[in-house]
Amino acid sequence: MSRVMLITGASRGIGAATARLAAAQGYALCLNYHHRQDAAEQLLAELKDAGTHAIAVAADVAEEAQVDRLFATIDTEFGQLDVLVNNAGMLERQMRLDEMDAARLMRVLAVNVMGSFLCARQAVKRMSTRYGGHGGAIINVSSIAAKLGAPNEYIDYAAAKGAIDSMTLGLAKEVAAEGIRVNAVRPGVIRTEIHASGGEPGRVERVQSSVPMGRGGEAEEVAEAILWLASEKASYASGALLDISGGR
Ligand code: NAP
Repeated sequence: MSRVMLITGASRGIGAATARLAAAQGYALCLNYHHRQDAAEQLLAELKDAGTHAIAVAADVAEEAQVDRLFATIDTEFGQLDVLVNNAGMLERQMRLDEMDAARLMRVLAVNVMGSFLCARQAVKRMSTRYGGHGGAIINVSSIAAKLGAPNEYIDYAAAKGAIDSMTLGLAKEVAAEGIRVNAVRPGVIRTEIHASGGEPGRVERVQSSVPMGRGGEAEEVAEAILWLASEKASYASGALLDISGGR
């Protein structure tokens, strides 16, 4: 049977590019999404037409009960889980820290941090040899913002990604002897819709001159790194934070 991969936030951007590449490499796929059912269903139809065993499941990763239902659906549909790509993430409008209110901070931390923790928890329960599983791989989609801090834009988002880096380091050690590898990719400025949600659709064009390679990245370039970390080719990689950021 195909290896089974769950990609959170697979309806658009980096998640959708990861789904297309994973399907081409023979994975069976669970595509999680939140609001954009239209985009998720369109991607699902495309993958199924090409012969991939795939399902699309709506769930807010920040909500424990919805995450539990998401994983229960995977149990029913596939009976196994080999790879979790903790990709779902969001940011809010650009502003200074002293302008941020508590409600915003809660939203940013809930989706980016809590969502990744809740999904990792369920994945470990299925993959770990401690629970009778056969091992697996978890890939967290962090951000180069964790290193740069995102001043005047979204320090809250950068700090949330810093938490993901710490979780990657700790969980990698916690489950290394249980057959699970845990790694993160840290994308730089990538051409997706996330910049519009920060209030600046043209952000890639503005900041690309500060990227050593002189350009923004494409979602497919991040997907390649995710699929490598998911694969047996990365069999000795765990606890790695892999920057896919054009040298930033
Ligand atoms: P995007 O185009 O805005 O897509 C975000 C995806 O996350 C969508 O599929 C969205 O689902 C999903 N999502 C958002 N909130 C969710 C929630 N509460 N529960 C479940 N799914 C949720 O963003 P992207 O650029 O591809 O970003 C993907 C990941 O890469 C994020 O973790 C982001 O922080 C990270 N990243 C991006 C960049 C960049 O420059 N693009 C750089 C560094 C890191 P719906 O469409 O259904 O709402």
